[in-house]
Amino acid sequence: IASHLLAYYFTELHHDQVQKVDKYLYHLRLSDETLMDVSVRFRREMDKGLCRDTNSTAAVKMLPTFVRSTPDGTEKGSFLALDLGGSNFRVLLVKVSVNGKQKVEMENQIYAIPEDLMRGNGSELFDHIADCLANFLDNLGIKNKKLPLGFTFSFPCQQTELDESILVSWTKGFKASGVEGKDVVSLLRKAIKKRGDFDIDIVAVINDTVGTMMTCGYDDHHCEIGLIVGTGTNACYMEEMRNLELVEGDEGRMCVNMEWGAFGDDGALEDLRTDFDLEIDAGSLNPGKQLFEKMISGMYMGELVRLILVKMAKEKLLFQGQTTPDLLTTGHFITSYVFAIENDKDKEGLESAEQVLQSLGLNPSVEDCIATQRVCQIVSTRAAHLCAATLVAVLRQIRDNKAAERLRTTIGVDGSVYKNHPQFARRLHKMVRRLVPDCDVRFLRSQDGSGKGAAMVTAVAYRLATQHAE
Ligand code: BGC
Ligand code: MG
Repeated sequence: IASHLLAYYFTELHHDQVQKVDKYLYHLRLSDETLMDVSVRFRREMDKGLCRDTNSTAAVKMLPTFVRSTPDGTEKGSFLALDLGGSNFRVLLVKVSVNGKQKVEMENQIYAIPEDLMRGNGSELFDHIADCLANFLDNLGIKNKKLPLGFTFSFPCQQTELDESILVSWTKGFKASGVEGKDVVSLLRKAIKKRGDFDIDIVAVINDTVGTMMTCGYDDHHCEIGLIVGTGTNACYMEEMRNLELVEGDEGRMCVNMEWGAFGDDGALEDLRTDFDLEIDAGSLNPGKQLFEKMISGMYMGELVRLILVKMAKEKLLFQGQTTPDLLTTGHFITSYVFAIENDKDKEGLESAEQVLQSLGLNPSVEDCIATQRVCQIVSTRAAHLCAATLVAVLRQIRDNKAAERLRTTIGVDGSVYKNHPQFARRLHKMVRRLVPDCDVRFLRSQDGSGKGAAMVTAVAYRLATQHAE
């Protein structure tokens, strides 16, 4: 049927399928008013997290990062970085130089983390990280140099210093025992010491959102927000110290890791969560946690689509009521299928829908392909729009902090959904601009924020330390 799909594109049949799905998924299609309301709710959650009296019961933790300044372009040196918590685990060597022009060069190596280490014993996980680091240093012949290292650890952490970071709870696909409540820097130092064949100076632990803001900040000094929409979702921004009641001092600013994935964990989004969202949560590694993230991020997007297709099939709205073992298996509708099915060129998207459904053992009609594409569109559009709603709250907070009529700002962005989904970025930008017409927002894709960012933070910490010493 592939070759005929285009012919169906603007036909009544197409229209009917879209209408059928739109009606069925009514609850996943959020109006501008609803999104504005979500934005207002999120702004309240931000306040709750920032204030000393309410922080302990806040779902959105607004964690201080101890990153007080974005790069000024004079940073230099060689730095190691670790990146754990995105789609890949990586070790990097980043060289930052100034001579005339700012330049960042890097070497990087991806290492696998087997699932049994992600969800097994925590000390084995850290031993593995130390092994990978040793292998990397060996390969580059720099094992005898004690280089400064920045650790991008993309999970919620309570920090008291730049180099002390206590894991609050695992998220995404991780659940290693004995790490929650512990300082991940100590765990890493211990694992390195146990080997005894190299030494490293661990200077900073950062969240990937912070790394993203920092790398973009290197190129654009207006950058004061970092956003990730990848396996997980989260954002950080530069907050005034006077509003950060949990940290001493009122001068200057500090970056706050919001951990917005936990929005709704206290019930604040109950009216918006559908049966599909409840089902995703119930089957997850961390039920009751990261409820906002589960409506948005790449770890869950494909699975949401699958659950919808299954339910529609069972109600005989799709596939003539037929299901297959593959369609019924958790995780078999991967998120990158959604990207392919929503390909810009509608015909290619429909062809992908046909291929995907066939690979799941189904025998889809043209109607089924059109309806499946529509399901994907609705799920990913909701994700983009929910991100827009929370971003708008952050923009308003920053604008109010500056008491500015108009805010001109830059958001550094990274993550597989933002970068690889053909429509996500456009929909997000459009909705943000629609909800805050009085802000001039630039979205800047970070080039490898979670890797380079850790090195940047380390570099800034070094620059500040040298300046203080002078
Ligand atoms: C984590 C955040 C992280 C985000 C994006 C979430 O699950 O809690 O710390 O920034 O994923 O990687
Ligand atoms: Mg990453």
